Amino acid sequence: MTLVQEFEDRFGHAPIGVWAAPGRVNVIGEHTDYNDGFVLPFAIDRATSVAASVREDSTVRVSSTFSDSGEVIVSDLDELSAGDVDGWAAYPVGVLWALRQAGHQLKGMDLLIDSQVPVGAGLSSSAAIECAVAVAANELYELGLSGSELALIGQRAENEMVGAPTGVMDQSASLLGKVGHAVFLDCRSQHAELVPLPLQENGLALLVIDTRVSHSHATGGYAARRRACEIGADVMGVRALRDLSEDDLEEASGLLDDETFRRVRHVVTENARVQAAVELLHAEGPQAIAPLLDASHVSMRDDFEISCAELDLAVESSRKAGALGSRMTGGGFGGSAIALVQVEDIDRVSSAVTAAFAEAGFTEPAIFAVSPAEGAGRVS
Ligand code: ADP
Ligand code: MG
Repeated sequence: MTLVQEFEDRFGHAPIGVWAAPGRVNVIGEHTDYNDGFVLPFAIDRATSVAASVREDSTVRVSSTFSDSGEVIVSDLDELSAGDVDGWAAYPVGVLWALRQAGHQLKGMDLLIDSQVPVGAGLSSSAAIECAVAVAANELYELGLSGSELALIGQRAENEMVGAPTGVMDQSASLLGKVGHAVFLDCRSQHAELVPLPLQENGLALLVIDTRVSHSHATGGYAARRRACEIGADVMGVRALRDLSEDDLEEASGLLDDETFRRVRHVVTENARVQAAVELLHAEGPQAIAPLLDASHVSMRDDFEISCAELDLAVESSRKAGALGSRMTGGGFGGSAIALVQVEDIDRVSSAVTAAFAEAGFTEPAIFAVSPAEGAGRVS
């Protein structure tokens, strides 16, 4: 059954159209977003689609092909407050709620979601849903909002309706991405710039190695890292760690305890690596950023301490098998690593990583290539 047929089945009428928004992978720039720093994600060639129609009342009905039962979750936009919607429906409903909170006029919608973005692999299936719904509502209610404005709406939905304290990177990548490009985002000004990332043209591919593990300290670890960054910025007398450069690290080492210093050093050097990566992409092309990926991983493993045995093994085994550069990506304590590889080495690297995981007694990883794709928009 097509998505349109499925929509008719579940809602009893046809949708007006179908919109889609991609997931994203972050090339470099980890834990820099909430420090007002730089990130370099790209929109991937796996997207979430939403079939949508408008309603005359304030009701939102959402359903997902995720659930075979055809369950439809109903809420009333007039009655909603932050945090009111539980479970996955908080993402789509949260977007419509956030649009209203921002002062936009809209009535209800019927929405059917169908996603090709794997959940919890660090590819932002959550932002893909938000952005697909955001572009659908933007067009159907003629709101005229830009990609950057819609990104903030998606972030607000995730922060306030879902209750996840995330930055604006994921939504920016999903909305602003372009084929063959990464999105260089300044998380302070929200200024975004497209940077060429011609992987295929250079015989390269970016592999995602999803370790399929999520360690229990992920949530507490994330909060603790954020706190350490705030303390570091406070002691150094800056608004955010973004305002420190590598030249400030010597002073920081004298003022901060060893652990806080290493947290700060990761953020400061990671921001520098993102900027260096952007320059290298312009000047030399994608292959040139490989050493920065390696350095980023070491920094997250040793200074920020958010890696884990599975991520370290993904990085080490892929590099040993010929990957040019490799690092963990995402929040840490599980999730995915990425490896920059030559196209002819994809199979060799994939089998070597799979074998290394088997030998270590780890869950078999999911390994697949992603490429920089077009951001969110209407598909039919
Ligand atoms: P990530 O964004 O890294 O994939 P998150 O925890 O931020 O992980 O978001 C995953 C959540 O998004 C899921 O737990 C679910 O609530 C929602 N989600 C993802 N894909 C779908 C889908 N196809 N249908 C319904 N909800 C989905
Ligand atoms: Mg997410």
